[in-house]
Amino acid sequence: MGRDNFNQDWASLSDDILSGVYEWRLQHPKATLTQLEIAIDERLARLRTKMLQDAALATPAADWREAAPNQRPLCPDCQAPLQPRGSQPRTLQTHGGRDLVLERGYGVCPACQAGLFPPG
Ligand SMILES: [Zn+2]
Repeated sequence: MGRDNFNQDWASLSDDILSGVYEWRLQHPKATLTQLEIAIDERLARLRTKMLQDAALATPAADWREAAPNQRPLCPDCQAPLQPRGSQPRTLQTHGGRDLVLERGYGVCPACQAGLFPPG
């Protein structure tokens, strides 16, 4: 994914957010500073999640499955290299309290059969 893709997606989402805040302000002319802050943060969290998701997926560390066995992540309990088991959506929570869904390589430990998403 190139920088242009990011720019396009992020620009259109931030346009939506900017006009959303403007609309909200028109509909709530007597909003307090706190209410305004909440309304803005709520919308910015969407952009933040989108940026995190796109940026995280662009990281080469997102895929360890093609690596040689001695390059693969280890089971934290057995220290055995994980066996790749395809990819699965992994849901993470952001600081903004939103779900961030990333397609991540999933692995199983050959010794204890624990399945996990290696960090990365
Ligand atoms: Zn194990």
